[in-house]
Amino acid sequence: MKVDFEKIFKEFEEDISRIKDLKSFKEVKDKYLSKEKGLITSLLKKIKEIPREEKPQFGKNVNILKGKITGKLEELKEKVELLELESRAKEESVDITLPGLDLPVGSHHPIKIVEKEICEIFERMGYFIAEGPEIETDFNNFEALNFPDDHPARDAQDTFFISEDKYYLLRTHTSPVQIRTMKKYGTPIKIIAPGKVFRRDTPDPTHSPIFHQIEGLVVDKNITMADLKGTLEKFARECFSEDTRIRLRPSFFPFVEPGAEVDISCIFCKGKGCRICKNSGWIEILGAGMVHPAVFEKCDIDPETYSGFAFGLGVDRIAILKYGIPDIRLFFENDVRFLRQF
Ligand SMILES: [Zn+2]
Repeated sequence: MKVDFEKIFKEFEEDISRIKDLKSFKEVKDKYLSKEKGLITSLLKKIKEIPREEKPQFGKNVNILKGKITGKLEELKEKVELLELESRAKEESVDITLPGLDLPVGSHHPIKIVEKEICEIFERMGYFIAEGPEIETDFNNFEALNFPDDHPARDAQDTFFISEDKYYLLRTHTSPVQIRTMKKYGTPIKIIAPGKVFRRDTPDPTHSPIFHQIEGLVVDKNITMADLKGTLEKFARECFSEDTRIRLRPSFFPFVEPGAEVDISCIFCKGKGCRICKNSGWIEILGAGMVHPAVFEKCDIDPETYSGFAFGLGVDRIAILKYGIPDIRLFFENDVRFLRQF
């Protein structure tokens, strides 16, 4: 039998001229080089039918053909792969003119914004920021602050105690930072202490079991009630507006003597009387007073030599007034529709 190797190679060349992608390349490669059904394999099988003397030449011709085909296909493979990459790149191409993903930027919580503003006012007056833990001892939260044993605040109905013996509790005010600072640093002192405080209140529009206070404490020689009033006046003008006035009403807190509740002139009606100030023209914003001698004694400071004033203001209350927020609970619900507005 005669095999026309020239003709087979011509046909192969026609086949490869039609290759346009990896799929058609593979089809041609299988047609000629597949181990089971390829043309080269079938030629090698025919070697039995070849007369003995022609066998060496036939085998040689098959090997030459296989070499030429393999060589051509190797050359083509790179080109086809490149073509393939190009067409895939076209399909998966990125349109760089499309707008990017909109990554939302967070904002500060309104409580934190107001807390920072208030702290900055006092820092400009030379105050340092002090901090204390939210879990306190009865000593720092009540006893050293001159609360008698039977004071209603020491009742489990008002305070979150976290040990059976009522030794540990969640601080009910930021005043224990006064005790910590006086014990640790002695005199003189000029600090403000921002932080969370906890009381067993049922949440409603004006009450929350967690709220925020900023405590202030100044201790030195010759500190008087006039220093306290001047400081709070300056604070009120910077925090609200230049024409804000304050008034001090006598009040009682165990850790100060005398004690006062401090009102600001209503920022909404400028003192004329409106719904928010309940027609009084005044809004209560903080409690203050002169540090009680008994508190100094608990902290080993001589009340004959030193005097001081302290105040505690409610950050939530001030944020509510500044932003006109109708419900304190909004601060704790983490609703982004609310938080996004600040
Ligand atoms: Zn008013």
